[in-house]
Amino acid sequence: MTKARRILAESMPAQDVIVEVLDARMPAASANPVVTEIRKQKPCIKVLNKSDLADPVVTKAWLQHFEGSPSVVAIAVSANQPSDVKTRIPALCKRLALHPRGPGKTVRVMVVGIPNVGKSTLINTLMGRSVAKVGDEPAVTKSQQQVTLKDGMMLSDNPGILWPKIENEEIAYRLALGGAIPDTAMDYESVATFAARYFLRRYPQLLIARYKLKELPPAEDALLAEIGRRHGCLKSGGNVDLHKAADILLHAFRKGVLGRISLEAPP
Ligand code: GDP
Repeated sequence: MTKARRILAESMPAQDVIVEVLDARMPAASANPVVTEIRKQKPCIKVLNKSDLADPVVTKAWLQHFEGSPSVVAIAVSANQPSDVKTRIPALCKRLALHPRGPGKTVRVMVVGIPNVGKSTLINTLMGRSVAKVGDEPAVTKSQQQVTLKDGMMLSDNPGILWPKIENEEIAYRLALGGAIPDTAMDYESVATFAARYFLRRYPQLLIARYKLKELPPAEDALLAEIGRRHGCLKSGGNVDLHKAADILLHAFRKGVLGRISLEAPP
């Protein structure tokens, strides 16, 4: 992490614009305070990515929240949708570059963000071909790479960085639920319990529709047990296999099959 921080600090002065990729389902939890600290007043596009998975009403509120932040423009996109990013991001980068190097000169853009927010997908879509390795597992991007786009932009990628210590448990759960923290790093069933409690409170109708529930289970444990039963996840003796039920719920959220869900709203 210290190395990643050093690379970021060393690369920053040469950049014209920072593209900070965030997870639209949790733009605060997925922001790295180190980026804000090192970026200072450098123009920044906050890209709320995976907006196809996020609650559109909450995403709109986030975009409004970021409006008015000095030197920041926020947009919501799906990095895997060329129509969403291929014209908007280059045009914004060119508009925001503080000291344009003159007509025809390259605008240097650095793409930053914590693991798994979609940096590689975004770069590949901007390039129109696969130059960065995309993965479901966090931290697939290991080393810095640079690519030049046809329309006068040079993009550099950065190793995915998380701040060294996540102090707040709620943030850790959101990151784990979204897949930014490897599944092996946190207790899986606790993450699913956190998810079940949050979905019951904020998105009960999505649960009812997805699991064809006649009534809403009274609490998170009951919801997980119900999901397990419906998917036939039973251990010998007939008890529900809660680990499998946790797996089903987490993957349903990550793939968006529950519906469009945001894990946090702006303050
Ligand atoms: P990186 O670690 O930040 O480079 O993230 P990746 O580009 O490797 O993406 C992580 C995962 O998120 C991959 O499974 C991608 O296919 C997926 N992903 C990236 N962008 C989007 C998006 O806009 N929508 C959806 N639904 N999935 C995305």
